[in-house]
Formats: sequence, structure tokens, C-alpha cells
Amino acid sequence: MKIVVIGPPGSGKGTLSKSLVKKFNFVHISTGDMIRAHITRATPLDLEVKEILEKGDLVSDELIMELVEATLHDTSHIPNGYILDGFPRTLPQAEWFVSHFEVDYYIILDISSKTVIERISGRRIHPSSGRIYHIKYTPPKVEERDDETGEALIQREDDLPDKVKNRLEVYKSLTTPIISFIESNSDKCIHINAEQTEQAVVQNILSIIGKTL
Ligand code: AMP
Repeated sequence: MKIVVIGPPGSGKGTLSKSLVKKFNFVHISTGDMIRAHITRATPLDLEVKEILEKGDLVSDELIMELVEATLHDTSHIPNGYILDGFPRTLPQAEWFVSHFEVDYYIILDISSKTVIERISGRRIHPSSGRIYHIKYTPPKVEERDDETGEALIQREDDLPDKVKNRLEVYKSLTTPIISFIESNSDKCIHINAEQTEQAVVQNILSIIGKTL
């Protein structure tokens, strides 16, 4: 099965993807993770991309489409399918994607800005494992420390309040318009109320895609 998940930052795309990956052995393809992995060297281009990320702006359509194409042009190595998280995010990306790839579902996560801000501002990450906590909802056992290693947790640079505000504005202006484009070019869109708990969101999706926990 091939699924695309679309939603603002903090709508639970990553968490939802991880649940579905665990259950169905899908491959999780996150363009945000791809970009973060791409900028580990200190070349001028990497530094430029890093700056864009830290501001909460989008990287160029060309770069991101190149990365997605490199991953999706041959899916024979992903027999159980994939969940694509974070792409498409602009109209040119959506036009390119719809004309090149067939998927089973576009899952659109609907959520208010207020909930997004609350979720993101409490998010803490353990950098080396990628484990994610929330200071209120899923706190670590020891404040600001990873449960397994005891190492310090960090707050992602683009999760800081002014960056989150920018990311939401970018989502509203560039990504929201792609939803009506996809809806008019595909009958595979489903809207999910992402204000619900993570478990309810997953159940909701499973009932729609015809699988049960
Ligand atoms: P995410 O983890 O999905 O919030 O992505 C982190 C950052 O990666 C975004 O703020 C963008 O700078 C970049 N990024 C991820 N996906 C895309 C995309 N489809 N188009 C442009 N930039 C992207």
C-alpha cells in the first residue's frame, strides 16, 4: 500500500507514520528526515539548506523532488509499500507527484494552529536515537533526559516558537492550496481529525483503509 500523509507541522504525521510502519512493515519516507540527513557535511550548499530549515522555510522544489525521485523511482525494494510524510508541500510538487505516482490514499490531517503550537513547543528530541518526548503528554522519566541513555534532550531549532509560527504560515500559504488540487485530481483523499489522541487517529485511519489493530 502507498500512502501520502499531509498536515501542518505538529499534526502527528511522524507519529502516525511510525505506528503504521510498525504494524504493516511500510517504509517511512520523510522528506524532513531526508533533508536533515542531507546536510551532515559542511559544504556551502548544505549550510544554505541548514539555514532555510532553521528558519522554518521550505527548501527548493528541485532539491526535494530530486530526493523523492531518487527514492521512489524504483520501489521494488519496498514490497509492503510506503508512507510518504512531508511531501508534496507546494503546488509544483503536487502537480509533479500526481502526474508521476499512483498512491492508495492521501491522508489529510486537520488540526487547529492552537493545538499545533502547544504540541510543538513541548516537543523534545533525543538526537542520536530520534526518540521524541512531550514535556506534558509523554514526559521523560527524568526531566530533559532520555529514558534509555540518560543523555540530554534537545529542542529542534525549527521547533522554537517564532520558527513554528513561520512554519504554520508557510503551510497555510503554500501547502493548503495543494489539498484542493489533489482533491480535484484524485478520489483517494481522506480527511482525519488530528485533534484526537494519537491512538484514535490511528484507529480512525485503520477503519478507513480496511485494516484492524
Ligand atoms: P519536517 O520534518 O517535515 O517538518 O521538515 C523539516 C524541513 O525540511 C521543512 O521545514 C523544510 O525546510 C524541509 N522540507 C521537508 N519536506 C519538504 C518539502 N516537501 N518541500 C520543501 N521543503 C521541505
